Amino acid sequence: AKSRGGRTYAFYTDALTRDARARVELVANLRRALAEHEFTVHYQPIVRLEDQTIVGAEALVRWITPEGEMIGPDRFIPVAEETGLIVPLGDFVLATACTQMARWRTAGLPCAFVAVNISAGQLNATDICAKTEAALAAAGVPADSIEFEITESMLFGADSGAESKLKRIAELGVRIAIDDFGTGYSSLAYLKRFPISRLKIDQSFVRDLPASAVDGELVRAMIAMARALDIEILAEGVEEAAQMAFLVANGCTFGQGYFWSRPLPPERFEALFSNAFGA
Ligand code: C2E
Ligand code: CA
Ligand code: CA
Ligand code: CA
Repeated sequence: AKSRGGRTYAFYTDALTRDARARVELVANLRRALAEHEFTVHYQPIVRLEDQTIVGAEALVRWITPEGEMIGPDRFIPVAEETGLIVPLGDFVLATACTQMARWRTAGLPCAFVAVNISAGQLNATDICAKTEAALAAAGVPADSIEFEITESMLFGADSGAESKLKRIAELGVRIAIDDFGTGYSSLAYLKRFPISRLKIDQSFVRDLPASAVDGELVRAMIAMARALDIEILAEGVEEAAQMAFLVANGCTFGQGYFWSRPLPPERFEALFSNAFGA
């Protein structure tokens, strides 16, 4: 038993060393990937439920390694956030989204806005307002064609600095959406305090619709609250026609999910407009 315990311990420390080494490697690879322009942005349609038309898109970052492997953000955003690399990475995503939006406007594509995910580290960086203005100006797109997606926890923890930055960003005309709505904090006071345009109901509430009575009631409550506050409401992670039908029947106005499309590279996103979902 003793020797077995010893081996377990050795295995455990080996595993720790391996994890630490893998992390150091990932950080180095992320830096290289930024320098070598290995990141790209995919776009997932945001659909108006009433007539099933695409009104906007969410920008979602992807990492294409030199070997051609596509790595999803869940595997590198947390480390990018911990190391501060999220700031240059976020700058890239915002600039790319603005440039893409400018192209689509020129081409007459009826995509009114692109939503960009913003991490706490980006909001805390002092120059987010100036950077946002500069990105809009460089691409020549109006502020209301860009939406920032932030989470409840960022507002809950917001100091007066973050609060005034969000207000300035909203004053520019950039719209602010609450991402993963319902998964953060129980206090809803921030809905009064901040200039929020849209709530994105987290996919965990949508997954078991329409079978789950509890999730159904929660989603209905969120829709009612958004309506009372005159905030737009969107359901994330819509995969099934039955989920869509529940949302429409209960007055949800926007949806996003595999039911319509996965996130796509820009050329494939553009192609979605030639075959409408409705018919
Ligand atoms: P999120 O902002 O909640 O984005 C939605 C995620 O759900 C995306 O995963 C999307 O591909 C996925 N999704 C969309 N529709 C469906 C569906 O019908 N079913 C299911 N099961 N999933 C669906 P993705 O692209 O892997 O992104 C994961 C997370 O990484 C995002 O969650 C966001 O928090 C973060 N992220 C992505 N891009 C960026 C970025 O540019 N900056 C920052 N800070 N975070 C990002
Ligand atoms: Ca998001
Ligand atoms: Ca989300
Ligand atoms: Ca998320």
